[in-house]
Amino acid sequence: MLRTHTNGELRIDHVGESVTLAGWVQRVRNMGGMTFVDLRDRYGITQLGFNIEKDPALCEKARKLGREYVIQVEGLVIERESKNAQLATGVIEIDVKALKVLNASEVPPFTIEDETDGGEEIRMKYRYLDLRRPPLRKNLELRHKLAIETRKYMDGLKFMEIETPYLIKSTPEGARDFVVPSRMNEGEFYALPQSPQTFKQLLMVSGYDRYFQIVRCFRDEDLRADRQPEFTQIDCEMAFVEQEDILNTFEGLVRHLFTSIKGIELPEFKRMTYAEAIQRYGSDKPDIRFGMEFVEMNDVCQGSDFVVFDSAELVVGINAEGAGEFTRKQLDALTDFVKRPQVGAKGLIYCKVNEDGTFKSSVDKFFDQEKLAAWAEKTGAKPGDLILILAGDTNATRKQMNELRLNVADQLGLRKKDEYAPLWVVDFPLLEWDEDTQRFYAMHHPFTSPKPEHLSLLDSEPGKVNANAYDMVINGVELGGGSIRIHDQALQAKMFKLLGFSDEEAQKQFGFLMGAFQYGAPPHGGIAFGFDRLAAIFGGTDSIRDYIAFPKNNAGRDLMIDTPATISEEQLQELHLKVQHES
Ligand code: ASP
Repeated sequence: MLRTHTNGELRIDHVGESVTLAGWVQRVRNMGGMTFVDLRDRYGITQLGFNIEKDPALCEKARKLGREYVIQVEGLVIERESKNAQLATGVIEIDVKALKVLNASEVPPFTIEDETDGGEEIRMKYRYLDLRRPPLRKNLELRHKLAIETRKYMDGLKFMEIETPYLIKSTPEGARDFVVPSRMNEGEFYALPQSPQTFKQLLMVSGYDRYFQIVRCFRDEDLRADRQPEFTQIDCEMAFVEQEDILNTFEGLVRHLFTSIKGIELPEFKRMTYAEAIQRYGSDKPDIRFGMEFVEMNDVCQGSDFVVFDSAELVVGINAEGAGEFTRKQLDALTDFVKRPQVGAKGLIYCKVNEDGTFKSSVDKFFDQEKLAAWAEKTGAKPGDLILILAGDTNATRKQMNELRLNVADQLGLRKKDEYAPLWVVDFPLLEWDEDTQRFYAMHHPFTSPKPEHLSLLDSEPGKVNANAYDMVINGVELGGGSIRIHDQALQAKMFKLLGFSDEEAQKQFGFLMGAFQYGAPPHGGIAFGFDRLAAIFGGTDSIRDYIAFPKNNAGRDLMIDTPATISEEQLQELHLKVQHES
């Protein structure tokens, strides 16, 4: 090997040893008679010392080194005169005897240190350089550990990791597919999997009763900060289980990851039905690190000739404890926030509870002190608190209030980074009605089993049927979701019919699955976790991109390899995507 030690390894005990190190030049400093070089690799930084009097030629050579040159040095480990407590190797340095440049480097387009001067775009273009920076390196290390600990836990429970194909068939449900033209089959296409869903179910039919896979999935969706066109799931499936078994098994996985990687014992996993989550928090992934729950206030708000309230289906409030001191400016900012098109409220009504117990509201014209006291009683507001109210259509108003609740909580510092509040949201509706297309869609996916006790509603009131489906939510982030599956061919066929498939279409798209169900399909269910998101949660940031070695930007582009890109005429013709013109 070209080195005896890494740059993060040498300590006081190594003093007196002759070593060979290799790595990248982070910095060269000339201090009179001495030249110091910080040598970096994945493991850390070691200081190299060159003494001009001892070896002028060698010192001269060191002075000429540029940033990011790759070098190899031989030398003696000595104790440093001025120690650096910031560095693990900060008590030693290398008295260099020989220096070899293994490769020169152009001046990098941005500084390769913890804090860089490079903008987003340039760092994406030179991702291989950005990945040399310690923060990104630490993110990838964390991701690696998560993968290893996941495999350990799953293997310990006899789960088998089995690969499923990437070239599969396009299906009309869910998100948009990425498709791949087939050269050998003119006019036909593969699709990249949005998830291995049907394959893992087939594996259950095959008898591999505990499957998992850390697997890439592809969805051609509009991108946001927490979305990537290709992303990774911890995909899992089990046979001969009920919902409770799955919740316990995967609560165990997440607990294991938190204890083994963060040394944190998670609190109890709360359980909440979907209906409750929507009513109390306006979201199916509520952040329950703090309270500020919704209070429905129609009874104390309506009937005072205030048309905004009187005409509303729902009047809903929250009590922001301690926010009574919000200034006029802050309140105006909150109003602007709820009025943003992304939130979509028409306005915000507030009521401060003064320290002397009196009230100051934005609608004093309509509501006297007595009426405002009823608001305070309803919401539990005390002196120093602030009641915030929105009114309108139930669904829209709840969504708006969810945004407001999170915004206010951020301002009050209630969303603490080092606190974790895990939650299972259960009893999701099976179907979702879409006004535009006038049909039902599967809320989770078409393979999700209705609750057995709701089966009889399937024909009469399908919209009221709940599913054996569940999401794991931590701190307002949906980490994973899954369901108990249908394993009965007739029920699966019925489900497709409800979703608007003709028998023929269902057969064409999913005949393989329904066929398999005729050969002894065991009861089964599973879950999939967003692996990139899990890494981001563990790392304490929102952006999953920072945990992916080579991510795409917001426009779905890889700026480094510059793709998507055009392909040649020949390729297009070969793939039957362009008709060859007779010349
Ligand atoms: N395949 C599902 C998804 O990707 C997860 C599951 O039901 O296991 O959301």
